[in-house]
Formats: sequence, structure tokens, C-alpha cells
Amino acid sequence: MIIDCHGHYTTAPKALQAYRDAQLAALKDPSGGPRSKGTVAIADDEIRESLENAQLKLQRARGTDVTIFSPRASAMAHHIGDETTSLHWSQHCNDLIARVCALYPTNFVGVCQLPQSPGVPPARSIPELERCVTELGFIGCNLNPDPSGGHWTSPPLTDRWWYPLYEKMVELDVPAMVHVSSSCNPNFHATGAHYLNADTTAFMQFLTADLFEDFPTLRFVIPHGGGAVPYHWGRYRGLAQDLKRPPLGELIRDNVFFDTCVYHQPGIDLLTTVVPVDNILFGSEMVGAVRGIDPETGHYFDDTKRYIDALTSIADADRRKIFEDNARKVYPRIGACLKGAARVEDSRASEDSARDGARGDDSSRGARAFPASARSEDERATARLAEAPEARTRQPSDRR
Ligand SMILES: [Zn+2]
Repeated sequence: MIIDCHGHYTTAPKALQAYRDAQLAALKDPSGGPRSKGTVAIADDEIRESLENAQLKLQRARGTDVTIFSPRASAMAHHIGDETTSLHWSQHCNDLIARVCALYPTNFVGVCQLPQSPGVPPARSIPELERCVTELGFIGCNLNPDPSGGHWTSPPLTDRWWYPLYEKMVELDVPAMVHVSSSCNPNFHATGAHYLNADTTAFMQFLTADLFEDFPTLRFVIPHGGGAVPYHWGRYRGLAQDLKRPPLGELIRDNVFFDTCVYHQPGIDLLTTVVPVDNILFGSEMVGAVRGIDPETGHYFDDTKRYIDALTSIADADRRKIFEDNARKVYPRIGACLKGAARVEDSRASEDSARDGARGDDSSRGARAFPASARSEDERATARLAEAPEARTRQPSDRR
């Protein structure tokens, strides 16, 4: 099984943006009355249409199985409005992800956007995190280290300011992807500078503090290949040594992971050479930051599976860690989700089969069945993980 740990709903139906536009327009209303949450009217068919020719088509074309899926990151825009603005927006975005996961349970597993707001304690995001994990079946969250959108007004991620949220993450056994949103600082292009700056900044914060002594099981994914970190691995090793910190491999071992959203082969070669393979998760961020085709290769820049497949420097067992095992380790709740999804698909296939049998027509029998190879892979993984942490998590029947 190939798990893509980094995908956003960048193709959501237009009604979502229309809601956001109206929400932002209401912020400018001088009467300033109480703001209602409102509704977002989107039909299931619109959701299907938004995915079939985008993420689902690319999953099939590129040979990946399931995407850990979250709301569009650049649209989180925590700097806009206030805590209530962010809460209503996050709840609608998260509800939409839950609907995607319900429609395509074998293709998507949810990760939530948090209702952060500049100056508001992260503890205030706990109820939405808890709702998403315990009620919607999500397996993690995206945590914005800079809700101010490029002005960095929050304390570092290692500050106790963030600790109540971390306590809840540990209790729920869910990781966070460190993910900023749009930039309102003209110095920083969002995807070209702000994102990569934040990845690099978060790593250096983790390097200099004892956060993981306080939270030994807290886990973060630093996306976009870790920003500048792999390229400057020697500098960080040297800094860790000068600062009397543990060696980098030891420091990040159980707590900090990088994805493979690096859109060229030399970048992936470097990432897998310097960062321990146990700390790398396959990710593509498709459909996302860079959408075009690389004229040098003729392939999409964000077809990152191709780069992992091409690696000759790692053993197949390590490739499997990057594609699947590490994601199951970092997002332990995914095991129960996939097991539940396989059951849903099996029962849908049986219903189809019974219906076709009643009609005496077997032309579409089994068309929606979970692929046999993937199912057996999942069953094997489930057996392997029977004693693993997700045994502590909710059962598939609790999914929603
Ligand atoms: Zn992203």
C-alpha cells in the first residue's frame, strides 16, 4: 500500500469559497452584529466531480492508494478576522473533508485544520481537534506555527504556550503537520518562501529545546522535504554539537518526520541520503503548490512517487518504510480507518453483487470491490499492527 501523507482539498466546489467570501464581507459590515456560522450547500455529486478528475485520477495514474487529506492550506488564513471567524471556517472545511472521506473511504483519510487565530491560546483549538478525531474519524491535524500569516507573532513551537494542545494530541495519539498558510507579508511568497521558511524554522526550534523530553510521544511532520534542513544537514549537526544537544538522528528519531514533497530527483536523493529513512514519509501535496510538467523530465513536478521509485541507494524494505510503514507509525489511527474502509467497500460490493444477482446481470459485479492486492496488503499490515498503538484507538464502527 502506498500512503500519501500530504494532500489538500484544493479543488473544493465553488460554494466553499463563496461562503468564505461572504464571511469576509460580513467582517467589513459596520453594524458588526453577532455572526452566525451559516451553511455551505454542496451536493455529494459536486464533491465527486471535484475529485474524480483531479486527486482520484492522479492517485490512479501514479499508483498511490490513499491520501491523508486536509483542507486547502493556503486558505486557512488564520490571520483574517478573529477566533470566531476561524472557528466557523475551520468547522466547515473539516466537515467537507469528512464528507470526502465518507464518499471515498479507501482513498482518503482526514486531517483537520485548527481554528487558530493570532494571540489566541492554542488550547482554544482543542475542542475542534477533539471533534474531528473522535466524531469525524480524523487521524491528525495541521498546526500553523504562525497564525499571523508571515509576521511571526506567536511564541516558538517549543514554548509552553502550545503545551495544552500537545497534551491533547498525545492523549488522542495524533500527530501534527507543521503547516503555515497564506502570507500577508509581501516579503514572503506563500509557497515559495513562507512555507519553506516555516519548515526550516520549526526544525531549528525543535533542535534547541527539550520539547520531546516533556512529550516523548509527540510527533510532527515537517512538510516540503523539511524546507532547507536536508541541504544544510551539516550546519544543523554542527549547531547541535556546539549547543550540546543530542545528535540529530537521536533528537528527531521518534518525534520529527519529513515528507517527500521535493519536486526533483536530486532533492529526493539528498533527502534520503542525509535524513534517516525511518523519519521520511511519502508525500506529494497534490494537487497543490506546483501543478505543471517539468520540461526536463516530461513528468509532473509533484509526481513524487516517481522519484522514490527511482532511488537506487535504498533497499526495498526502506522504500516500503517511506511509502507505508512510517505513515502507519506516525499516524497510528490510520490502521483502524483503512480496516473500516475495507469493510465498507466489501459490504458495498456485496450489495452490488446481490442486486446484480437479483437482476440476473453480473456485468458490474465486484466493480467497486477493494482491490484484492491492496486488501491483502492491508490485512497483513493490520495483523502486524495488532499489538501496535492503534489497538488503543477507536474501532472502525465508531468512525462516524
Ligand atoms: Zn501542504
